[in-house]
Amino acid sequence: MDQNFSFDIAQLNARFDPLTVPGKSEEILTWAWEMFGDGADIPLIATSSSFQTQSIPLLHLISQVCPQMPVIFIDTGFHFPETLTYRDELQARLKLNIVVIHPAITQGELLQRYGEALYRRDPDLCCYLNKVEPMQRALVGRRAWISGVRRDQTENRRTMDVLMQQPSGLLKIHPMLNWTQHDIETYRQQHDLPAHPLYEKGYLSIGCLPCTRPVFLSLDPRAGRWAESEKRECGLHLDWNKEKE
Ligand code: SF4
Repeated sequence: MDQNFSFDIAQLNARFDPLTVPGKSEEILTWAWEMFGDGADIPLIATSSSFQTQSIPLLHLISQVCPQMPVIFIDTGFHFPETLTYRDELQARLKLNIVVIHPAITQGELLQRYGEALYRRDPDLCCYLNKVEPMQRALVGRRAWISGVRRDQTENRRTMDVLMQQPSGLLKIHPMLNWTQHDIETYRQQHDLPAHPLYEKGYLSIGCLPCTRPVFLSLDPRAGRWAESEKRECGLHLDWNKEKE
């Protein structure tokens, strides 16, 4: 394995962008695993998952292409119980290498330091403490991070590239970038994969319990996330486009 990881990102983006579609994304996963995972005692690459219905094609592909890939799950302490059940069901079925990470701050400290319902008064701070900080910690020492973000999800994601690199050198890889919501559902049905238990109840995009609503009447699956505010992203995927600007 080339420990210097020298590659031309612009050239790879031109090559990979057409591959971020059903039937092709596995080629990007194969490249990523060969580059950063295969042969290392501890993989220098990981993916992250929120374990919702739209996560399942990427998890299924990983289980087939690179089953040893660490799958980071940030246990914020605010998840729906159904999400934890779904995570465990997928782990058993797909034999995923799930790594559970907890925030540095405990729920008791959160309450003591910031009072009740920080998620309502300052969701950005709550997301930073409970999602962004643990994710940053989980990525220390890694060289690459695979995320299932898609261009059709938010404005911020529309302009993302397949490969994006931070000044630290960490490479973020988006093999599902040009999949659509329809592609996700088609793939799930073709492979007879289960949906999140709350999917049929209108929870098309699921995060933490206090910040997620069902969206039966909306065309935007993410309309139920932080529905009472303008917030649309937890922050995990925001700085990457700022680096690009
Ligand atoms: S989604 Fe809500 S509860 Fe979860 S970390 Fe963010 S603000 Fe806090």
